[in-house]
Amino acid sequence: MKIIQTLENLRASIAMVRKNGQPIALVPTMGALHEGHLSLVREAQKATPNVIVSIFVNPTQFGANEDLDSYPKQLEADAALLQSIDIPIIWAPDVTTIYPAGFATSMQITGLDDNFCGSKRPGHFDGVILIVSKLFNQTGADLAFFGEKDYQQLAIIRQMASDLDFDIDIIGVPTVRNADGLALSSRNSYLSEDELRSALALPQSMQEAAKAIQNGTDVQSALTNAADTMLKSGFQSIDYINLIDAQSLKILENWDGEEARLLAAAFIGTTRLIDNLAVK
Ligand code: AMP
Repeated sequence: MKIIQTLENLRASIAMVRKNGQPIALVPTMGALHEGHLSLVREAQKATPNVIVSIFVNPTQFGANEDLDSYPKQLEADAALLQSIDIPIIWAPDVTTIYPAGFATSMQITGLDDNFCGSKRPGHFDGVILIVSKLFNQTGADLAFFGEKDYQQLAIIRQMASDLDFDIDIIGVPTVRNADGLALSSRNSYLSEDELRSALALPQSMQEAAKAIQNGTDVQSALTNAADTMLKSGFQSIDYINLIDAQSLKILENWDGEEARLLAAAFIGTTRLIDNLAVK
């Protein structure tokens, strides 16, 4: 396994692994790897042995008051984990390799980022599509794997890849949860024991809301109930909780049996957690 930090070495290593005639798969991450990331990697390995895992905490997707400086960094531990499962290439560039002095290009997604994390974190998805398109170009990957955990992100990346004619298959992978139902996240490491217990109210109240909606409860009361339960269980504030159309991400006021998704973000202490759940 190679940990690569320059573009020149990346291109040379990719040319080497490509010699086996198999496609290149990319799994973009910000590191602090957990089972959620590993499930993306395993899916990628089903398609090809040529799996590149990128580890880069991308500054352009963090807002001014967000956790860029405190975001967990553990390249050695991540590398050991990836070595144990036979990943040939870790792409771990420095910020100056990705954004050298004089870097002057930005990107903007419209529409799909009007709500949810897009409106609560202005500019976030513009930073995401910028780094993801750079990673697509740098690796020339044939396939790229992203988690459904970041549901709006997955939809936006699909749109961007299609709009910009990237010749790449975008594959979504279901959310991995701990035994209690909490979606795994690098940000869970910010939580105290007490906060971790309280955080379970997020998946639990979403499950209840999904069930209630499926059983005919009106959408608004199901969402209000879920938000109230979370606030009573130790969440400080709810950023949003909505029922949306699973494809268009349009907010649904009523549920008529279409494929839908419950989408939520909430703060526990200063930590922002997101989750989503299928309603069908
Ligand atoms: P991150 O390192 O948080 O930027 O995540 C990198 C990739 O892993 C993204 O495509 C995420 O959606 C995905 N991911 C993060 N957490 C999970 C999870 N619990 N289950 C599945 N995929 C995840």
